[in-house]
Amino acid sequence: MSRIEKLVVAIDGPSGSGKSSVSKAVARTLQAAYLDTGAMYRAVTYAVLAAGTDLNDAAAIGQAVKDAQLQLSTDPDVERVLIGGVDVTTAIREPRISENVSAVATNLEARAELVRRQRQIIEEHPRIVAEGRDITTVVAPDAEARILLTASEAVRLARRGLELGGTQTNEQLATQVLDRDAKDSTVVNFTQAADGVITVDSSELNFEQTITAVLDAIGVGTED
Ligand code: C5P
Repeated sequence: MSRIEKLVVAIDGPSGSGKSSVSKAVARTLQAAYLDTGAMYRAVTYAVLAAGTDLNDAAAIGQAVKDAQLQLSTDPDVERVLIGGVDVTTAIREPRISENVSAVATNLEARAELVRRQRQIIEEHPRIVAEGRDITTVVAPDAEARILLTASEAVRLARRGLELGGTQTNEQLATQVLDRDAKDSTVVNFTQAADGVITVDSSELNFEQTITAVLDAIGVGTED
């Protein structure tokens, strides 16, 4: 495979679509950096909760994002997220963050600031796989490859259940996955592919097959 110097890959999708693990694997294969934009929304949510900020106070949340000192690893092999110097890598995966993250994600001022920072990170890395909800449409609409990774609702619920170690009831899972997606959908459209965005449906694909399908969609295939 001839190594293209500039390669921005944008991947969007709902919770449980396998976005993060697939995007990381694709970044490794392409020897590219990796940007988990969801981790940025999660880290800000952690800080807002820690500060006791009222989640209904839109102005306070907007300001918290502007003040946020965020540091994110862009190495697909190193997961590390810091906010205000505090390592929140593990804490941001807790259900209490998933349950409250929409307060930040639906705040338009917060989105504008995070989108600005995401574009900056992409700019700094000529080869990068960036994943989230609005990467193909808002953050990097000019990316060399744009993919919407989907999966059926049943498959997404089952995958998220496995990730959480089978500790959640079906009801809790549905709240965490479907309610969050419904709230997120009010500000960004990640259920239908925008013009020029390729849909990869992973419902009937295993992990390896999904990676191959995404690499095919990017146009690098598995040739050597
Ligand atoms: O991808 P992940 O589940 O970690 O994302 C957490 C939350 O961050 C999403 O539910 C959504 O509210 C928000 N998000 C977003 N835009 C992105 C990435 C994530 O609104 N580009």
